[in-house]
Amino acid sequence: MDKVVIVGGGQAAFSTASSLRQWGYDGQLVILGDEVMPPYQRPPLSKTYLLGEFPSERLLFKPDAWYEQNRIDLMLDARAERIDLDDRSVLTTRGNRVSFERLVLATGASPCELPDLPSAEYSNVHLLRSLTDVEAIRETLPDTGHVLIVGGGYIGLETAATMRKLGHEVTVIEREHRLLARVTVEPVSDYYENLHRSHGVDIRTGVTVEHWLSEDASVSAATLSDGTSVEVSAVLVGIGVRPNTELAAAAGIEVDNGILVDEDARSSAPTVFAAGDCANRPLVHYGCRGRLESVHNALEQGKLAAAAMLRRPRPTEDLPWFWSDQFDIKLQIAGLPMPEDDVIVRGDPDSNSFSILTTRDGRLTSANAIGAPRDFIAAKQLIAARVPVRQTDIADPAIPLKDLQPAKT
Ligand code: FAD
Repeated sequence: MDKVVIVGGGQAAFSTASSLRQWGYDGQLVILGDEVMPPYQRPPLSKTYLLGEFPSERLLFKPDAWYEQNRIDLMLDARAERIDLDDRSVLTTRGNRVSFERLVLATGASPCELPDLPSAEYSNVHLLRSLTDVEAIRETLPDTGHVLIVGGGYIGLETAATMRKLGHEVTVIEREHRLLARVTVEPVSDYYENLHRSHGVDIRTGVTVEHWLSEDASVSAATLSDGTSVEVSAVLVGIGVRPNTELAAAAGIEVDNGILVDEDARSSAPTVFAAGDCANRPLVHYGCRGRLESVHNALEQGKLAAAAMLRRPRPTEDLPWFWSDQFDIKLQIAGLPMPEDDVIVRGDPDSNSFSILTTRDGRLTSANAIGAPRDFIAAKQLIAARVPVRQTDIADPAIPLKDLQPAKT
């Protein structure tokens, strides 16, 4: 293999490129990304970076010199427009045709816009995915004001916490009847609703935005579906993302809520791999497929793609995991809860150090550890090893989860 081209310059692209070099790949390596910055981490964008506590240089995975030393050709500010599978090349918006022997699609996902409300024309209605989005928020955000967050998912809630820390009034509106409804179980939603309320965030569930009222190309108030209205100085729309699959679909690569890949991150086109938020992958610990939106997933799939391209043994797949920071509380999630699972609360939510666990057929399936890193680490092992557990044991915080581990052989 002489030439690998990676489309997209984010977490999965960086993981693929660094793994290829780490494992001895010596051929040409190109990262083709449409942002101006070299690959950078996104999690701080809604947390410490938005708060102004995290310098932009620290967002970068590596400085420019690292790419030179590793002979990685960074083609930035260039968007891949079309893939020609017969000719094995990618056409860019700059008019270049970049040939490849193996192609990795690491195009990520794009934030969804409100379906029935035009927003792009207003300077103070924002999405949050990139560094450019944060700069746009900063440019229009007054020193104090009222920030409306549309969407009570992780990004909306993290941004709400940051905006409170910055001294703004904050209202979060969520269409579902609880926060985080798409991604987690009810006791976690209840905990975060209480946490945000205790910090002065106005949470309204079962409500949507119906109209914007505007002045001078800015939204000044929002009318909500419950008939109330909220005066706003800025709006953040955080209602989920959609995978960037257009490029793959146009090339005839199979797509279904993400680019469909196998356990080696290989798409339906044998020379093309896909990794990260844009890929729909087998979830080996759960016997199903899915698309994950997490740093861990992007890192792991980049490694899977690199290993397959180099014909190395497939790295062992870790259990999916994720984290979120809101106010001073760290949530660590291991595994994926399914709707039919039993839910067990371990410890006292008022202590801000407890866990919410799910089980099915006598085995743990997921853990939400809130200020409880030991539970997170132990639960991750118990889930991956499919250790049988008794609900009474895991509900008892006096029994350390690590004591339920299988004996090491
Ligand atoms: P991205 O990192 O989005 O990279 C994709 C890149 O491809 C982008 O630069 C995009 O512009 C580019 N691109 C797209 N199409 C093209 C094209 N045609 N040509 C060229 N380039 C293209 N995860 C966690 O686990 N924990 C967290 O706390 C957490 N917090 C987050 C906070 C925020 C604000 C955001 C936005 C995400 C957060 N995530 C978190 C999710 C995590 O950052 C993503 O899952 C991860 O970045 C996915 O990596 P990726 O490489 O698939 O996509």
